Amino acid sequence: MTWDFSMPVKIHFGCGKTREIGKIIDEIGGKRGVLVLSKTLKNNGVGEKIKEYCGGRIAADFCDIRPNPTTDNVNECVRVLRETGADFAVALGGGSPMDCCKAACAIAKGEDIIESYHTMGKPVSADEAIPMIAVPTTSGTGSEITNISVLTDMKKGIKTPMNDPAMYPKAAVVDPELTLSVPPKVTASTGLDVLAHAVESYWSVLHQPICESCSLHAARLVFRWLYKAYTEPDNITAREKMAEASIIAGVAFSNPRTTGSHACSFPLTNLYGVPHGEACAMTLDYFIRLNAKGDDGRIECFARDCGFADAYAMADEVTELKRKMGMAMTLSQIGVKAEEEIEELTRLSMHPLLKNNPVKLDFDDIKKMYEAIK
Ligand code: NAD
Repeated sequence: MTWDFSMPVKIHFGCGKTREIGKIIDEIGGKRGVLVLSKTLKNNGVGEKIKEYCGGRIAADFCDIRPNPTTDNVNECVRVLRETGADFAVALGGGSPMDCCKAACAIAKGEDIIESYHTMGKPVSADEAIPMIAVPTTSGTGSEITNISVLTDMKKGIKTPMNDPAMYPKAAVVDPELTLSVPPKVTASTGLDVLAHAVESYWSVLHQPICESCSLHAARLVFRWLYKAYTEPDNITAREKMAEASIIAGVAFSNPRTTGSHACSFPLTNLYGVPHGEACAMTLDYFIRLNAKGDDGRIECFARDCGFADAYAMADEVTELKRKMGMAMTLSQIGVKAEEEIEELTRLSMHPLLKNNPVKLDFDDIKKMYEAIK
């Protein structure tokens, strides 16, 4: 077995850590920045607080970002970065503002639009990137420590990740207090995204030892704390443990990437508007059972180390978690009505990430899965 591991993001973790953001801006030599944030964080006053901690160095903010950010959102953000002459940016929010900011920062010093890089293959150049500090407010995507930005090109109807070493944030400031206001439904969806990162990176054909141990640590935390964070939103310990799980799962999938559930999540979100984590969770229990059948003992071991009798018991727990937290369980619940829609969903699920799945799957296998959960 050979492997390479790299994780260059400086992580600052803990309640109250956002107050230290000024020091981190000093470290990267930032003088004039843009705050990229979700409208929720702008409206609830958290954005203003962060600006204060940035010590008067935020010259503009940008919040015109929809969930599952579009390439148009990124191009607008790039325009603001260029017009402001920004030499750094702070991203505040869930995966959507962080991914938008990350892609915008990667090309800000150049002159091009993001579509050239996202689906047309132009490599990101470190010379065109400006440094970014990521401040996550959900415990889910791990975007604060990955070099991945998942973007939707509305003209092409494609949601797909782009990634490049130049896209790593310079620092991540992870303050669990920021997640106390996350509504239960978003807590559930983002928490299940963490679980999908942990489980999928573990069984990815690109798995490797450092990431494997992170997968296990993160999955254990999710099984122990997610439902508590969902039922007791003010429980700071549960929030802290989920924030920890989110980062560690981010490290887990940063190199091995994800597999079947993430491949299928893209069309479930794009065509039916299912939030990202909930979309991953729709097929996660199915994939656990399916991959366990072709298992060489690794998934079985993982399930036992998470406290389950076997992989099937772990899959049952995922099903139960989804049910208890009101997540979509069937295609009909999200509005899939006709047989042709299953055909289309299957076609769009044949994403390159499927190649990372430990059991090789073709069109008929994926269609069979959708038939089983219709
Ligand atoms: P999100 O960023 O879209 O946020 C979901 C909702 O929660 C929004 O309405 C937002 O305003 C609200 N919200 C966020 N923080 C809040 C807070 N503290 N209090 C109250 N409301 C809050 O959701 P997400 O799941 O964090 O991110 C999803 C996006 O990230 C998707 O586009 C997905 O594809 C992408 N993603 C990226 C990576 C990566 O490595 N870059 C990994 C997984 C997913």
